[in-house]
Amino acid sequence: MEEKILIYEKSVSGRKGYNLPETKKNASEILSAIPEKYRRTTAAALPEISESEVMRHFIGLSVKNHHIDKGFYPLGSCTMKYNPKVNDVAASLPAFTRHHPLAPCETAKGNLELIWRTAQYLGEVAGLPGVSLQPVAGAHGEFTGLLIMRAYHKERGNRRHKVIIPDSAHGTNPASVSSLGWTAVQVKSNEQGIIAPETVAAVMDDEVAGMMMTNPNTLGLFESNVAEVVKVVHDGGGLMYLDGANLNAHMGIFRPGEVGFDIMHFNLHKTFSTPHGGGGPGAGGVAVTKELEKYLPFPVLEKGSDGELFFNYDRPHSIGRVHAYYGNFLNIVRAFAYLVALGGRGLRRVSENAVINANYLKEFLRDDYELPYKAHCMHEFVISGSRQKKRGVKTLDISKRLLDFGVHSPTNYFPLIVPEAMMIEPTETETRETLERFAAIMKQIDAESKENPETVTTAPHNTPVRRLDEIKAARELDVASLD
Ligand SMILES: *Cc1c(COP(=O)(O)O)cnc(C)c1O
Repeated sequence: MEEKILIYEKSVSGRKGYNLPETKKNASEILSAIPEKYRRTTAAALPEISESEVMRHFIGLSVKNHHIDKGFYPLGSCTMKYNPKVNDVAASLPAFTRHHPLAPCETAKGNLELIWRTAQYLGEVAGLPGVSLQPVAGAHGEFTGLLIMRAYHKERGNRRHKVIIPDSAHGTNPASVSSLGWTAVQVKSNEQGIIAPETVAAVMDDEVAGMMMTNPNTLGLFESNVAEVVKVVHDGGGLMYLDGANLNAHMGIFRPGEVGFDIMHFNLHKTFSTPHGGGGPGAGGVAVTKELEKYLPFPVLEKGSDGELFFNYDRPHSIGRVHAYYGNFLNIVRAFAYLVALGGRGLRRVSENAVINANYLKEFLRDDYELPYKAHCMHEFVISGSRQKKRGVKTLDISKRLLDFGVHSPTNYFPLIVPEAMMIEPTETETRETLERFAAIMKQIDAESKENPETVTTAPHNTPVRRLDEIKAARELDVASLD
């Protein structure tokens, strides 16, 4: 028998999944309360289905797709980390969800205190004292940080408009620079996959406003020349920006402010417990040095002389507002819950586990897959499917084959500097058994690429749908046509 997929196909006339309370009013009395023009002339075509069938329908849909609660999800650069469910419970408490964003500060003392403390803790992790939690994405934090950089140079009368960006950077970095009407200057990483200070010195001039660096970089490698690079940029009159998307690798170990970063952003939806996927809502606060604090977007949450918190709009040097109200407050609640539950030592352990898991897994894979950069990695690493490609099996095929084993694929074809790249980031909480199972599956796929490549090139075989035309699927979103 063919499986019924749409809820409408499961509908049976007259079947109900609800009970309405009795009313003393009759139907025409109720109807008369609704103006004529708003009344239906025909019944709404709603599916008629029992409560348990509705439940099964949606649970069924949810498990057709892969997700982190279903299986391993080593999607590099995205930090599909462990987001404790209890933090979502915290974020759904009525005191947080029901408070109107325009309510006066006096009625929101607890919520303001929560934002204040979260900013303090994040500032501590960053080693940078000025924190704004207003931006709502990593890219939005970058844009905000660059506006701060621009305000800094403008005040000094500098006409700087170039930003140095490594070739391993995430695409949002050059995009943010372009959004400002500035120019990105690309620098190449060396054979070890990191940036040499000489490369930066070669492009440093008085048009350079600063440099954006990701550390660890998108190859999962620690930029061990960071102190020298910072010096080159500072000596040349520029500011250092840290793309903090990879903070999961070094919380409580490496404090960006201490090596001289002036500005950074956090991805609360990568590092601090906001689940991500499906496009949002995110949170991408920024942290800056004492010197740059005056440029932060307003309103700035401050403590008045009476010790009470308030939003200060009177900030003459501020770059202005970057988002309505004060960012995505419920993500700040999740971050707060996460930070207080773990504490400083707990955060450090998260990072240590992330790094151990990545290195453990890397050692299993390096024999069968090309490992372009051999160094000890941080929380993620990049392998290449170039050997398998010679046998006619592309990285995309490997990723599709992984789905047959109930595993999500690593990030494919990024970073761009590695051909057939697979960027693997095992979550810090994954067990040794899960990592070993993933390694065994990857070994099996490599063996298949030698003995039976069609198994891989025609995968997936046991998912609800086979290969999709991904561009068409994104452009013509139609979940009903599952063929
Ligand atoms: C995810 C990511 C970004 C962008 O963050 P969004 O929240 O997706 O805008 C920037 N840089 C790096 C390295 C990232 O991994």
